[in-house]
Amino acid sequence: MCGEGVEDLPHIFISGRVTSSLWGSVFRWLQLQPFLGSDPVDLMKWCDLVRIGPNQSQVLEVVCGTTLWFLWRFRNDVVHGSKTLPVN
Ligand SMILES: [Zn+2]
Repeated sequence: MCGEGVEDLPHIFISGRVTSSLWGSVFRWLQLQPFLGSDPVDLMKWCDLVRIGPNQSQVLEVVCGTTLWFLWRFRNDVVHGSKTLPVN
């Protein structure tokens, strides 16, 4: 997606330049410490383990799941040529 490194699942969903920046914004918005792993499955497990209220935990799962879905859709749009990343 960003043209840097191997586009494996951790890169696409968590640790790539574009995705890590997006997650940084998401966790700042949620006022949470960032997820430190690189596996999207671990991210969803982490959502279950974060010590916040029960309703907030459900919101966190929805936000993380939706963000993963968005990243996958955006990645497919870039790979198949209907979208490009802006420079910078
Ligand atoms: Zn990339």
